[in-house]
Amino acid sequence: MRPVFKERVWGGRRLADLLGKPLPEGKPIGESWELADHPHGCSTVADGPLAGRTLRWVLENHGKEVLGAPALASGSGARFPILLKFLDASDRLSVQVHPDDDYAAAHHAGERGKTECSVILHAKPDAWVIDGLRDGVTRDAFAAAEKGAVEDLLTVRPVKAGDLVWTPAGHVHAAGPGIVFAEIQQNSDATYRVYDWDRPGLDGKPRRLHPADALETIRFAGEKPDSGGRGRTASETGLVIEHLVDCRAFSVSRIQLDGRPWAAETRGGYVALMVLAGAARLVSAGRTMPIRAGDTILVPADASEYVFEGAEELTVLAAAPPAKAPTQ
Ligand SMILES: [Zn+2]
Repeated sequence: MRPVFKERVWGGRRLADLLGKPLPEGKPIGESWELADHPHGCSTVADGPLAGRTLRWVLENHGKEVLGAPALASGSGARFPILLKFLDASDRLSVQVHPDDDYAAAHHAGERGKTECSVILHAKPDAWVIDGLRDGVTRDAFAAAEKGAVEDLLTVRPVKAGDLVWTPAGHVHAAGPGIVFAEIQQNSDATYRVYDWDRPGLDGKPRRLHPADALETIRFAGEKPDSGGRGRTASETGLVIEHLVDCRAFSVSRIQLDGRPWAAETRGGYVALMVLAGAARLVSAGRTMPIRAGDTILVPADASEYVFEGAEELTVLAAAPPAKAPTQ
């Protein structure tokens, strides 16, 4: 897919340096919307018989072939159910929270909730993320905190390359500076900023905060809901599959190959692949295409099978409908 680039106050140039993205000159780019079918950005088919078509066009004309009948029947609607991004947090992102499906439907017409997960690709040595509120922080304590004092209520977690960050709707979070990551999320752009570190936005003015929506959205009590993921399969052929997340909206697996061929099935649903490291050839539906780190590929449900071939080690993220993660 051909992505849409987003200028952000916290962005940088590392999506070009590390992943070969053709970024527009002279701007801090924070996000590359790799697989996007959203009013705020729509990616385009880069290769194959539908090259040049937008993902919107593809779904309007070939929705069933791409999503598979079960995905359509489960109410995911005309829009693609997930949104895939690479992000460059050169500076820290705002402390933020996203709504669940019910709150999004009630407050943003046509928008979904936003559960997301990230896999860190590169991190500077002392990199961190905000991963929720500290234990015991109540709604009253949070509401009473003055702007800067919010920092004292947050859980700071060190991160390194390869780490998973699981962020269900309602979980307060932020990426710290010096991190490049891949993100798989529900197809939504609903974000409530809690705190923006008292910094100016791209126009020199502070970016808007959304304290009222945040207060209604944050899950204050209880544990972070489990994703149901984290199983791991390793085979003698050098194949490693880690099931990172299986939530109501999507499943995410990380697949590592040592160069030997491996065939996987779409299992009746779409499979979206993000290549994190290495290079290979992908064979599917009678076509062979070279793939390398930074590429994002959509395998339609009706392709049935996709095969990795090639002489290099390869690490890919595979996003699929819930309970349809690739298996050995
Ligand atoms: Zn977020």
